Amino acid sequence: MKEIDFETAIKVVIVGNGAVGKSSMIQKYCKGIFTTEYKKTIGVDFLERQIEVDSEDVRMMLWDTAGQEEFDAITKAYYRGAQAGVLVFSSLDLDSFKAIETWKQKVENECGVIPMVIVQNKIDMIHESVIASKEVENLTRKLRVPIYRTSVKENVNVNEVFHYLAKQYLKQV
Ligand code: GDP
Repeated sequence: MKEIDFETAIKVVIVGNGAVGKSSMIQKYCKGIFTTEYKKTIGVDFLERQIEVDSEDVRMMLWDTAGQEEFDAITKAYYRGAQAGVLVFSSLDLDSFKAIETWKQKVENECGVIPMVIVQNKIDMIHESVIASKEVENLTRKLRVPIYRTSVKENVNVNEVFHYLAKQYLKQV
């Protein structure tokens, strides 16, 4: 009899202030496209991508906030059953950096302790950054969450974020 392969699916929530690059990151990772045209939502609940991690097939399901974060109105359905989280801020937006701790709290309140990463996006604009790297270091140490510096625009480190989360998730199951 043929053995049935149960594929692992991981729901990943991607949170952070508006305009930090969350939708762009989801589009880039799942569809391979980037647009500079400011676009609030991707119009669907989530996009997915199949990857292989430690010889296991994993289906990464990336959930978009669909702009709900602007009104502090992210629904419980958004967080429900999430197994990993990405906390995104932009190198060009100090407020988005200051909000990271609150975002982590929100994810933990709704999902408990799940693998998370902090993402500093738009590093292609690092020369215009308004956030001292020492501050970033201090925060990641305080929150005990690893950081990835990404440019969705130039496709730097995006795959690594989700590969890391999948690995962390598989470690605990
Ligand atoms: P969201 O509101 O967090 O989902 O942010 P969006 O994905 O809509 O992105 C907001 C704006 O930032 C858009 O104009 C994107 O093209 C731009 N953006 C996203 N990622 C990057 C990046 O890595 N570098 C640069 N320079 N712009 C980016």
